[in-house]
Amino acid sequence: MLNILPWHRSQWNQFCKSVTHGRLPHALMLTGPEGIGLKEFAYLVASRLLCLEDEATLAPCRKCRSCVLFEAGNHPDYMLVDVEEDGKQIRVEQIRKMIDFINLKSQFDRLKIVIIDSAHSMNKNAANSLLKTLEEPPADSLILLTTHRPNLLPVTIRSRCQKMIFQPDYSTDTLEWLKRKIMEPASAETLLRFAGGAPFAAANYSDEQHLEFISGLINDLYSVSRNQINPVALSQKWNKAGAEYILYWLLRLFTDILRLKIKTSPILFYQGDSLKILQGLTNQLDLVQLMQSYDLLLKNYGLASSQISFNTQGLLEDFIIYWQETSNCEGKP
Ligand SMILES: [Zn+2]
Repeated sequence: MLNILPWHRSQWNQFCKSVTHGRLPHALMLTGPEGIGLKEFAYLVASRLLCLEDEATLAPCRKCRSCVLFEAGNHPDYMLVDVEEDGKQIRVEQIRKMIDFINLKSQFDRLKIVIIDSAHSMNKNAANSLLKTLEEPPADSLILLTTHRPNLLPVTIRSRCQKMIFQPDYSTDTLEWLKRKIMEPASAETLLRFAGGAPFAAANYSDEQHLEFISGLINDLYSVSRNQINPVALSQKWNKAGAEYILYWLLRLFTDILRLKIKTSPILFYQGDSLKILQGLTNQLDLVQLMQSYDLLLKNYGLASSQISFNTQGLLEDFIIYWQETSNCEGKP
């Protein structure tokens, strides 16, 4: 995992320069599109700085005591803060724990390093608490924040971090990396474009589990249109998988449905006869009905992905019932 990725090279060089010139900041904010590997880069920076082999421009040695502890997730001078499974937010208790940690003396007599992953998920109290530490950072410490939505962070926090920006990348080296990661190397370019130049996102879209998930969603849409499934039961199932996630992928599916309607080729990859089923659903409805379904999905996705707590199952049920009424073709051939 701890290698320099082809599309991270210029940022890596930038980081190496600040180390060599002794200009490492106390807080570094990594921003870029989702799936570009901000967390991977943060890991690399953290493990490089903790590595006991002092060769700042190279990747961490992966052999010294520090590297071994880091890779095992047990390094005493390192801490990761991220969204806990049961919620969407990073809470103030997590940040307080991190502050206690970073103020302790380093056990390896080097830096204390913290990664706050998806930093935009900090709630207001958590952000306020972090701000105090950013204003008076302890010596020999580094806080790495990663975020694909920097605008959600208070300007007071953003202004106290040095920024490192990751741009979408379509270079040959990146395509070569992607080709080694996916099932159909020939589709690498399409996938990367579809993922907006974010290589990890592109690789995820191609894996088998993901293709099965997409087929499952299409089957669910089909079952609803045939009254074969109870809307409440389906909304429960979807809600368990994550409402925001489901609504996001329904939006991508409806983008393809709209493309099929205007006789343009779809963007996503489909397994087995999924595309045939999708085409069947497309044929059942007219363009206006399909666009209205898309609008409803877009609205509910916006609500589900906001930080305000909504009844997410209700948002899913709302769409399922709408889709059932619009697409129901019982009695039709
Ligand atoms: Zn090492």
